[in-house]
Amino acid sequence: MSNDSRSWQSAMPLTDVPVPWMDSAACANVSPDLWFGETRQDSTRALKICAVCPVVAECREYAIESGQRWGTWGNLSQDELRHASVARNVSKKASTL
Ligand code: SF4
Repeated sequence: MSNDSRSWQSAMPLTDVPVPWMDSAACANVSPDLWFGETRQDSTRALKICAVCPVVAECREYAIESGQRWGTWGNLSQDELRHASVARNVSKKASTL
């Protein structure tokens, strides 16, 4: 794990509006390098932390709804997140038909 003092939240291209569940994130005080790392090892380590995070559902929903495409969110790898986002968009389009 990196020794830098950045938090995961500081790396998130999110919103100016406070998102209360982020205060309870298991990754709140962990370097964002793991969540936005480029190696499978980074992702695996991030997913182990996500797996015990008390706000995993909120994080996952937020990531999908806000269209995140990079990094590990809500105990989903980047590829899983992209698939979940596509599935959500398909579902939304189908519901408007
Ligand atoms: S689910 Fe993972 S990425 Fe989301 S807040 Fe928890 S530890 Fe962080």
